[in-house]
Amino acid sequence: MENLMYNDVGMMVVREDHCCDHFEPNDDALVPMRECWCCKWSGFRSEKEGGPSDGYSVCNYIGNAKEAVNR
Ligand code: SF4
Repeated sequence: MENLMYNDVGMMVVREDHCCDHFEPNDDALVPMRECWCCKWSGFRSEKEGGPSDGYSVCNYIGNAKEAVNR
């Protein structure tokens, strides 16, 4: 199993090509692939400036947050 990473407020850090069972396609993705970049819960499209780089972003799905996963 891969190691999960979390940011300083406990939200999961994801790679562009990661995916999980909670995937939901983003509205503006024409042909969404099942990966975080195309998921409405990721922050990739709102982090054009000053956000995480190197293909990483945050998953905003609360069920994937550290607190929820470790319950
Ligand atoms: S952004 Fe979050 S909810 Fe969406 S596929 Fe990635 S890990 Fe799952």
